Amino acid sequence: MSDVAVGVAPSERSKAREKKEEETHFGGPAGAVLFITLLPLLSIYLWMSIHKHGGALFLPSASILSEIPWPTARGVFFVAAWLAFQVALQVFLPGKIDHGIPQRDGLRVPYKLNGLASLVVTLAVAIGLYAGGIVTGTAVLDELGPMLTTSILFSFGFSAFLYFYGFSSTRVEHRTGNLIYDFFMGTALNPRVRDFDLKLFFESKIGLTTWIVITLAMAAAQFERDGSVSVPMILVCIFQLWYVADFYFFEPAMLTTWDINYENYGFMLLFGFVVWMPFNFSLQAQYLVYHRPELSIPAIAGIAVLNFAGYYIFRTSNLQKHSFRTNPDARIWGKPPTFIQTKRGTKLLTSGWWGLARHTNYLGDLMMALAWCLPAGLSHVPPYFYFIYFAPLLIDRERRDHRVCAKKYGDDWDTYCKKVKYRIVPFVY
Ligand code: NDP
Repeated sequence: MSDVAVGVAPSERSKAREKKEEETHFGGPAGAVLFITLLPLLSIYLWMSIHKHGGALFLPSASILSEIPWPTARGVFFVAAWLAFQVALQVFLPGKIDHGIPQRDGLRVPYKLNGLASLVVTLAVAIGLYAGGIVTGTAVLDELGPMLTTSILFSFGFSAFLYFYGFSSTRVEHRTGNLIYDFFMGTALNPRVRDFDLKLFFESKIGLTTWIVITLAMAAAQFERDGSVSVPMILVCIFQLWYVADFYFFEPAMLTTWDINYENYGFMLLFGFVVWMPFNFSLQAQYLVYHRPELSIPAIAGIAVLNFAGYYIFRTSNLQKHSFRTNPDARIWGKPPTFIQTKRGTKLLTSGWWGLARHTNYLGDLMMALAWCLPAGLSHVPPYFYFIYFAPLLIDRERRDHRVCAKKYGDDWDTYCKKVKYRIVPFVY
């Protein structure tokens, strides 16, 4: 595993040791077993609800066994070719090297960022394949189930690899020593093959790009079925393409996030990028292939405002933290930033969005999440899955981050929380 790093004491860098963490998340090993079992089943259930049950919730019975979309040769080929294509883009397309911020052990590791170029090339190739009649939206739609089960199997196999590979890390790693829990959460922070960072690759190139390509393929499938693309489908495509393109446009901001700097890389994150994000974030578009809800002009306008207001809050709050952390003198909302200088060395921003609530970035994300679901109308629950799961996830994530920060910053965190009282929604929560 690559150990290239800057900004850390040599004694720390060279010392390979494993830190036994007392604290576990997600209910510890028992919770991990539950998640490892239920998340794949839930993903298959959602696929069935959209593609076999008219987009409705249904009570599972023995007969659903016949509905399981087992891997097919074409589905496996699509997944393998896609993975190989994305790896090639990551390796061969030029990209800026960014060292991010010091991670939880003080190391700064180099990341090759070429996401925007990869997205543009991917979309150009996808359009070329579609225009040439080589891959149709209907083919993607037909193979979606088999690709889902193939990706689930892949995520189990690759997580096993990550579990063992993580032990070759020479960095200070957080592990519990419990096999199940460490398989779930991972055994290393940044598993790398030479300079190829597996976590960032799967999070962006596989998670986000696959998701948006599936969403766009669903629009193509709808066009092939009906001869036109509906307004709700167009809204979902625009919103989600905007989100993904924006992510790549501000790719360096990713390097200051919790996932990258604090979360080990194991089944939880890998499954999230390989299965959860591509297949479950595109549920609205999958649903809209079969349904064409009527939206009034005010409804369209309201949904668009919700999405772009959410986007504005999400983007500007994340950028404020990123710019403050990389250039503490940068002005925020036209004024010099205010902050708490912690004993740990880092500064906690207390102005801009970060002075109104401790995670307004989550609020913006949640507003967008709702805007992506509303075009599906109000007749079925599964297309709302993204929002239904995302709200509790971010509420829990904020509390986990709060616990970690309270431990990390001690009374400085108490001071920060007294100054910035609200967690996610200013003046409300
Ligand atoms: P944040 O980007 O909010 O990062 C939290 C960390 O930032 C803390 O641990 C702390 O770390 C630092 N921090 C906290 N408060 C301050 C402050 N006032 N000033 C400076 N630094 C501070 O969290 P996430 O990584 O969870 O979220 C990033 C984005 O990703 C969000 O917009 C979120 O909505 C989105 N997201 C999307 C998901 C999806 O599935 N679509 C899933 C999860 C997140 P330290 O001080 O040690 O640097």
